[in-house]
Parts: sequence; structure tokens; C-alpha cells
Amino acid sequence: MNGPTPQTNRRGPRPNRPVALIAGAAGFLGSHLATRLIDDGWRVYGVDDFHTGLARNLAHLADHPDFVFMEHDIRRPLPKIAGLAQVWNLACPASPPHYQDQPIRTATTSVVGTLNLLELATQAEARFVMTSTSEIYGDPEVHPQPESYRGCVNTTGPRACYDEGKRMAEALCYDFVRQYGTDVRVARVFNTYGPRMRLDDGRIVSNFVAQALTGQKLTIYGSGRQTRSFCYVDDLVEGLVRLIEVERRPETPVNLGNPEEYSILEMAEMIGRLTGRRIRTTHDPLPADDPRRRRPDIALARRLLDWEPRVPLRTGLAATIDWFAELLAEEGRLVAK
Ligand code: NAD
Ligand code: UDP
Repeated sequence: MNGPTPQTNRRGPRPNRPVALIAGAAGFLGSHLATRLIDDGWRVYGVDDFHTGLARNLAHLADHPDFVFMEHDIRRPLPKIAGLAQVWNLACPASPPHYQDQPIRTATTSVVGTLNLLELATQAEARFVMTSTSEIYGDPEVHPQPESYRGCVNTTGPRACYDEGKRMAEALCYDFVRQYGTDVRVARVFNTYGPRMRLDDGRIVSNFVAQALTGQKLTIYGSGRQTRSFCYVDDLVEGLVRLIEVERRPETPVNLGNPEEYSILEMAEMIGRLTGRRIRTTHDPLPADDPRRRRPDIALARRLLDWEPRVPLRTGLAATIDWFAELLAEEGRLVAK
């Protein structure tokens, strides 16, 4: 097999560390998870093809003795790695404009990429975590959404490449459990935000914060009365780590998200307040199939993982605003209050 060439750092690994592989390591969530696992004593192989990820997200790990980067597209098989105990699949664009830009690539990343990673984990007898998504619930008729809800997804719409790709990835996960006994755990991740999101990510938090800090109008899609529930990245990473560490493998997917629900108009107002800017808004059309509401039922995560989010929205947003303000200042685009 023609695998990627790992880029090892100069000092070489420290001995006796358990080994984890993170696909999507240069992305927003993947880079935070890589940092967390290394802090916890893991040797981490970060895999990414920089489709939406950025090298700067991993700059702080570049010379770390326990971090190895492999530039690789997970739609191709991965090389065996000695001592692999955890395989994480976070490789997939998560922002609607990014995942809709190359929809076939998005769908095949979730289906073929997940298949390749499941095979790797199965051969290595490693635990596997799939980051699925609240999008598999589609435009939900049940509110809040428990894991038992089977969703309301348009199979032919512009979001289907992502939603249906993730649904197929979940199906593959449980087929590997049944057929090979692979230790698979599935996280259904709800909207998550924080530092290291891209300025051009296109999702609500990055758009509104960047617009507020550069003196532009905030783009409200539709009426702005649709809702989402926003989880800070540190809370999400804690939930993911608990999911892979819990001894008894959960038999179903587990929702991970913050159950506090806000309308888009409320988010615009809060970001205005926290940035100290006078907010002006403009209304753009609602994208096709945009879910009207979304809020996780996290009773299962509370019970199985003893987990719930701790970071209040205003605290998480303040840290995120600082991150974007720094990026915009570097680019000379930050507008004074
Ligand atoms: P992101 O776009 O920042 O990160 C995804 C990473 O995967 C990027 O670094 C990208 O370059 C890489 N990637 C994409 N296709 C690849 C391929 N074929 N081969 C190798 N690498 C590839 O997104 P994120 O917000 O960090 O999301 C991470 C995971 O969490 C995704 O699986 C996403 O579906 C899931 N998720 C995220 C959210 C959220 O709100 N952030 C919500 C639900 C689910
Ligand atoms: N949204 C908005 N303006 C923006 C970006 C997003 O009004 O500039 C809305 C979008 O229509 C959706 C919600 O905010 O209703 C969350 O969108 P996002 O893309 O962040 O995530 P997702 O739709 O995948 O939950």
C-alpha cells in the first residue's frame, strides 16, 4: 500500500506512550483534541489533507516529540501503525458552505473514509470514535432530540451529502460492531464553537463575530427565529475523551452538545454586546433545508459519561471573540469600537 510519509519531529518519541490516530487533526475540533490527548500522555498521529484544516492549527505541536503529522486523504487506505490503541474520525468539513462546495467529496469522505478508518481500528484492535452530527436528525419533529429519534432528512437536498454521509458512516460503525466486534463509539456532535474556527468558516459564530469586529452588517438568514444550541470546544473535547475512555462501550450513539438553546436573533444581540459594537443586521434568504430548531437531549451522556457542558455561552464567546480579534488584527482588518 502506498501510504503517506509521516513527518516526525527532530527529538523522536518518548517511550511507553499509548498511541492514538486523529483523522481531521488540522481542523477546528481535531487540533483541540490532539492537544488534549498529548497533554494526557498519548503519542498522537495527526492525519489530514488540509481540505478545510489549517497548518497553523497544529503549529504549537509541530516540534512536539509525541506528535507525528501525516498529510493524507482518508478516502485512501491508511498504513498500519504499531501500538495503535485509539482511532478517532473527525475528518469531514462541518460548515454548510464548505461541505456543500464539493458534495461528492463530502459524502465519500464520510463513507469511504470511515470505512478505511474502521478497517484500521479493527486490524489494530483499537477503540474507534466516530464524530457524527446532530444533522442526522435533519429538520427535527421531536424537540429536544434524544438519540432514539430517527430524524427527518431530505435525501436529495443540498445538505444530504453531509447528513446522509454521516448516517451511512453510523451504519458502517454498527456493522463493524456486529461483523467484527470492533469497539466503536459514536458521538452525535451538536453545534460547537471556539478558537481555531476559520475566519471564512461560514457558520454563524465565525460569521457574526467577524462581521461585528470588521464593522459589517450581521447576515441573518431567514427570520432569525430558528434556533441552535452552542457548545464550547473544551466541553465537547471533554465529552469525546469520556466517550472513548468509558469502560463499557455505549450500545447507541451519544449526543454531545450544550442544551441551552438560542435563536439566531438572540445570538446576534449577544455577540453585539460582547464585542462592544453597535450591531446592524441584514436579512438574507434562509438556505434550503435549514433546520428550524435544534437542541440536544443529553440525558444519556449525563448517565453514561457523567458529562455535561460547563462553559457558559458568554464565556466561550468572549474567548472566541479574542481569537478572531487577534486574527483580524494580524490582517489589519479589526475595526475599533
Ligand atoms: P473542520 O472542517 O474544521 O475539520 C475537519 C478536518 O477534516 C479538516 O482539517 C479537513 O482538512 C479534514 N478533512 C476533510 N476531508 C478529509 C479527507 N478526505 N481526508 C483527510 N482529512 C480530511 O470541522 P470541525 O468543526 O473540526 O469538525 C470535525 C468533525 O466533527 C467533523 O467530522 C464534523 O462532521 C463533526 N462535527 C462538528 C460540528 C461542529 O459544530 N464543529 C458539529 C457536528 C459534527
Ligand atoms: N446563520 C445565519 N447567518 C449566518 C450563518 C448562519 O443566520 O451568517 C444561521 C443558519 O441559517 C442556521 C444557523 O444560523 O439557521 C446555524 O447555522 P450554521 O451554519 O452555523 O450551522 P448549522 O446550520 O449546520 O447548524
